[in-house]
Amino acid sequence: MVRHLEPVSARPGGGPTGSGPVRTCVGCRTRAADAELLRVVLVDGDAIPDPRRRMPGRGAWLHPDPGCLAKAEKRRAFPRAFKVQGPVCVEGLRSLVERAAGDVGTGSSRAVEKDRKQVDPS
Ligand SMILES: [Zn+2]
Repeated sequence: MVRHLEPVSARPGGGPTGSGPVRTCVGCRTRAADAELLRVVLVDGDAIPDPRRRMPGRGAWLHPDPGCLAKAEKRRAFPRAFKVQGPVCVEGLRSLVERAAGDVGTGSSRAVEKDRKQVDPS
């Protein structure tokens, strides 16, 4: 019998999907992998989406779903998540979420590169 000693390959950063950190949606309060949720940050009183998760500061997590956004608004989850007193404007976030909901099949289909090289065969 040969034992296969598979080396534990170090995966710096990008692990496989499914084993990432788990967040809670501020709308429906369901826990989900952070890959399924949209990070939202507060900038000057506006809740704005942070798809790249690069923005500094406190973030809230929301399903990119108008229903979850409506629930979050109704229970004032955003001011609570951001620990602010005043209202949080979600108009920019709403338009993005509604667009995402209407966009069936969000594939990364912008790989159409028009990189024509002017090579003259003659
Ligand atoms: Zn949700």
